[in-house]
Amino acid sequence: MTPRVLLLGGLDPSGGAGATLDTTVAALHGVEPLPVVLAWTEQNRRGFRRSEPVPAAQWQRALRAVLDDGPVQAVKVGMVGDADGMHGVARALAPLRGAVPIVVDPVLFATAGGLSPDAGLVAACREALLPLASLLTPNTPELAALCAGDPSRALSAGAGAVLQKGGHGDGDVSEDVLWLPRERVAFRRPRLPCGPVRGTGCALAAAIASRLARGDALAAACAGAGDWVAALLRALGPAPPDGLPRLLPLARAPRIDGG
Ligand code: PLP
Repeated sequence: MTPRVLLLGGLDPSGGAGATLDTTVAALHGVEPLPVVLAWTEQNRRGFRRSEPVPAAQWQRALRAVLDDGPVQAVKVGMVGDADGMHGVARALAPLRGAVPIVVDPVLFATAGGLSPDAGLVAACREALLPLASLLTPNTPELAALCAGDPSRALSAGAGAVLQKGGHGDGDVSEDVLWLPRERVAFRRPRLPCGPVRGTGCALAAAIASRLARGDALAAACAGAGDWVAALLRALGPAPPDGLPRLLPLARAPRIDGG
């Protein structure tokens, strides 16, 4: 049977991130995407304008319908948008915790600008989403906001593992580090001159969740998903002069078959 991956997150009608992107990434990985939308957003390459939470009763009914149809083999949580939603997601996913891998991408900022969290949202993310995660995938600003830049604090607070993403750094090498309770695994790749690109964090987390659903071990899923996203960035080539973030070239993305 085709693995089923539950994708909880925001809907970006401009296609650069969120549920639209995650669905494509999951389908390219040969798994069945099950997008349950928690927030409606208005944004494009020039910036994030606003978002509105989907009423809790509405997304909870959608989630129930998806789960009534059969088990899922992995979950990805992306943008939740408001603190109440984060606590609602934690309650809704509590029965799956420990039984199914849950990848949490703690979306607090947007590459194009215009999105920044208030203290309540950061606290809810730390208290509700972080302990739910079998894998948390923060970038540098998100890690700074959530646990003062220290992944071991996220492990102490209940995350099963942390993939500390190095995309926001500088230097010739981009290093992602997988923090496990007793071990660290580094993934080093050349830093590419592609400029700002939307949706890289969403795509990475969705690809990891898809690979976990297909049966990969955690480190292998992180390695494979990171290489897959890096190949997409390579395909983009150098940054254009307008400086605007670009979208991932998913129409040219390699398909992961089999499984
Ligand atoms: N909007 C939604 C719905 C998202 O899920 C995300 C990221 O995960 C963003 C916006 C921000 O995306 P990016 O910073 O990749 O542009």
